[in-house]
Parts: sequence; C-alpha cells; structure tokens
Amino acid sequence: MNPSHPAVEAALSRLTIDLGAVRRNYRRLLDRLGGVPCAGVVKADGYGLGADRVAPALWAEGCRIFFVATLEEAVRLRPAVPEATVCCLNGLLPGTEAVFAEYRLVPVLNAVDQIGLWRDFGARSGRALPAILHVDTGMNRLGLGDDEWSRVLETPDALAGVDWLYLISHLASADEPADPMNARQLARFKQVRKALPTPMKACLANSSGVFLGADYHFDLARPGIALYGGRPNADGPNPMECPIRIEGRILQVRTVPAGATVGYATSWTSPRASQIATVAAGYADGYLRSLSGVGVVALGGRTCPVVGRVSMDLITVDVTDVPPVEAVPGAFVEVLGPAVTPDAAADAAGTIGYELLTSLGRRYVRHYVGTGQ
Ligand SMILES: *Cc1c(COP(=O)(O)O)cnc(C)c1O
Repeated sequence: MNPSHPAVEAALSRLTIDLGAVRRNYRRLLDRLGGVPCAGVVKADGYGLGADRVAPALWAEGCRIFFVATLEEAVRLRPAVPEATVCCLNGLLPGTEAVFAEYRLVPVLNAVDQIGLWRDFGARSGRALPAILHVDTGMNRLGLGDDEWSRVLETPDALAGVDWLYLISHLASADEPADPMNARQLARFKQVRKALPTPMKACLANSSGVFLGADYHFDLARPGIALYGGRPNADGPNPMECPIRIEGRILQVRTVPAGATVGYATSWTSPRASQIATVAAGYADGYLRSLSGVGVVALGGRTCPVVGRVSMDLITVDVTDVPPVEAVPGAFVEVLGPAVTPDAAADAAGTIGYELLTSLGRRYVRHYVGTGQ
C-alpha cells in the first residue's frame, strides 16, 4: 500500500498553511516599524509552519535576515534562502566553527569565550568573520551577563577581530507593555550600546517589542510569533492574521442519551440527549490533552465544545446544536485556525500560542497556499 496514494491522503485530517497571510503579517510589522528593517525568526521549523516554506515567502517580501535557534536548523535552512544572512541564537559551541563558516552562518555570540573562539577561527582563516553580540539585560538566560560585559569593557580589543553585524538583547516581558521591566531593559541596552568601543547596529525587539514603540526599534526588529498570527500582547486586540487552519475529519457521529459518559475516565456526562462527533485529532497531533473539556472546534459557523478527554488520536465534540447535515462522517471541523485561534486555545489550555504552534503534529496532510501575494 502506497501511503502517498491520493485516497490515503484524502482520508487524513489536514493542515493548511497560508504563506500569503505570513507575508501580510510581515508587511504589517514593517508598517509598524516605519522604515526600520525586519528580520524573520524561523526557529523550531518556523514555529511549526515549515521554515523551508516560510523563509522563502518572507525573502520575497524583502526579508534578508533570519534567526534560528540551533546550528542544525541553520544548516537545513541554508538551501531555502541561499543569499540570506542566517543567524544562530543558541551561540557557538567549540568545534562547530568550520560548519558556521562552510554554510556562511552567523553565530550569536553569547559569552566572552565564544567571542574568543570566533576571533581565533577568523584569524586562522585570514579575516574577521561576521557575528552578533548578545548582551543580557535582565533575562538571565543567554548573552553576556553584567560581569562578562564589565570584563569586555576592561579588556582592550576584547571585541576586535570580529565583523560585528548587530548588538542584540532580548526582552523578558514585552507582551506586558505596562511592565516596568521593559523600560529597565531598554535603559540597560542603551547604556551597553553607548559603552561599545566601536559603534554597532542594534536589535532589541521581538514581536511584542515591535508594538512597544519606536524607542524599541533601533536598526532591526526580529519578530517570530507575530508572523505566525500570534498576538503581540496579552490584552490588546490582535492585528495579525492566523495563517494556519487544522481541519479534523469527523469519523463517526453518535447519539448518546442524557446521563451517558463520553471518553476515558468518564470525565464528561451528557446533560441531555446529545449528538457526539468523534474527530480525528488528538494529543499525538499536537491537540493538547489539557484542552480536555475546555477546547472548542468550529463547524458550520458555530463553535462546539470538546467534551470528555482528549485522547491520542481522537477528540469527541458535542455537535447537538449543529444542523445534522453538517455534522456527518467525512466532514471537516476546524480544530485550530482563524475561528479557533492558537492564542484562544492556549488560553483555555493554560499555555501560550507558541507551544501549540510548535507542537503541531506530523499526521496531517500539509497544504501550502497563497505563495503569491
Ligand atoms: C524566539 C526569539 C525571538 C522571537 O520572539 P517572538 O516573541 O516569537 O517574536 C527573538 N529573539 C530571541 C532571542 C528569541 O529567542
């Protein structure tokens, strides 16, 4: 049996990714940035959407700089955007220098030791190689901490012998515009920038940072989640467009009497005679188990509650209020997408849209649409 047989594919649930929507989101960010260039963060396989498809779509919009997390992601991305600047946020591990050079990758140097490695490697190859300098301004995760930064300032030529593309730092609370942490980090970032022995271009804003205003824009922004439709802040309206739609197949519809339980652990009891649709999407597809009893799906212009436990391959949905012609075996319901956004589902599940997107499973047929404008 050929698993790529059209009938096999047609029987699956599907994930549609609208690259046109990703491109429009990039343009929305450019509008906000008022002339400041914008990189694209495509780590974790483009937040689950497929970095090899997202990056060329962004390139077509004029995006020239891409950020990934790991070296492996960068090496994989290289053929998709052969001319782009590809930067690795996770830094430079000893022994990987030659790979960075071979694939023309830019390490984000997160520690003094890494600066030394890259300078020495450059010296052996006869030129200063490009890199990004990451100084921590309060996140305490990656980047030169205060102690390391002081060492740099006290050491003459500590930054010499590297072709510095940008100074960067990362905001801890940008999605909460009122959090004083934002202003503290901004002040520290400006202080670090001012103390540089030679000037560098600067880059601070992630998606939410773009919406904190021009003070946070500097010479480059590097949004991720907003490209993929995620809301820039926790409370305000979301100006972004959701580029994904997951549609699960209804496999079976059954009538259950009042008082019947549905699913594992009998966690839901039908309060009335109900129509229950069993849909092919479960936690193995990235439909989080914590959506049990709190998730919704969209069908026929309505939202219907997910009842009972989310199981590995299936969810059960109360479709009692949907016209019977719509809730039939073979029909598709929107499990995640413009009507049931990753942010809304994440709120219900007690997580964030980022986690839902990067957990998208591999059992869907993927369709890419909107590659044009
Ligand atoms: C992931 C990441 C980004 C992108 O953040 P979003 O919130 O998705 O816009 C930017 N910078 C760094 C250092 C990151 O780790």
